[in-house]
Amino acid sequence: QAEPRVVLSARGLGKDFAGFTAVNNVDLDVEHARIHALIGPNGAGKTTVFNLLTKFLQPTRGQITLLGTDITQTKPDKVARMGLVRSFQISAVFPHLTVRENVKIALQRPSGLSTQFWLPLSALDRLNPRADELIDRLGLGHWRDHRAADLSYGRKRVLEIATTLALDPEVLLLDEPMAGMGQEDVAMVAAIIRDVAVERAVLMVEHNLSVVADICHHVTVLQRGEIIAQGDYAAVSADPRVRTAYMGT
Ligand code: ADP
Repeated sequence: QAEPRVVLSARGLGKDFAGFTAVNNVDLDVEHARIHALIGPNGAGKTTVFNLLTKFLQPTRGQITLLGTDITQTKPDKVARMGLVRSFQISAVFPHLTVRENVKIALQRPSGLSTQFWLPLSALDRLNPRADELIDRLGLGHWRDHRAADLSYGRKRVLEIATTLALDPEVLLLDEPMAGMGQEDVAMVAAIIRDVAVERAVLMVEHNLSVVADICHHVTVLQRGEIIAQGDYAAVSADPRVRTAYMGT
């Protein structure tokens, strides 16, 4: 394992909503080739942290650095172009289009092929090889020509991840990627996230703690907007504050 490389970091991050402190004093380091989980009870501030990191919300306090650049004042579209992409934020899965068409549409956005969104699909044929490579990598090869609407729920989420990866992000933020899935789909998506993280950083909010234990290298636990524990799963799950606050034991 090479030296850990921090690609996204927050220092003293905080957000107040009309006098209510939703997030406070959050220090976070997300590393290349690692899967980092953000967990905590409902209302802990996980979504707000995601919105702050992607700059959908402007922080009240603190500083955010992406790939060595201070992005505290940067607009969200620029942050996305710099390599920080959130799963649902840019990926749009069009139900009536095929898996391959969806991926091609996602691919032409950063490729500079067009500044127009609605390029005719026929103009995107040159993207077939790249689309197919991504589709195969994510195990969707068999469904290449199926309409997105006909995919299982789990595979739709995988297609969503594929359209996000088309932007070639350095840091991928996933908001509850396993939500609502059966065990088989959870295992499929877990394997994909592992594969994705070989060459990128992943930060994910996830409620399924066995998945977190299984695939996440680092866990940050939030409670009432503040970090109460950080470390690997074994360490945070043994932490007495986490046990009372989160696990309820
Ligand atoms: P989580 O994602 O961990 O469930 P959130 O980040 O959604 O938590 O919310 C953290 C706290 O901030 C909650 O108490 C929530 O009610 C509050 N909050 C979130 N967004 C807003 C907002 N736009 N205005 C006021 N309060 C908010």
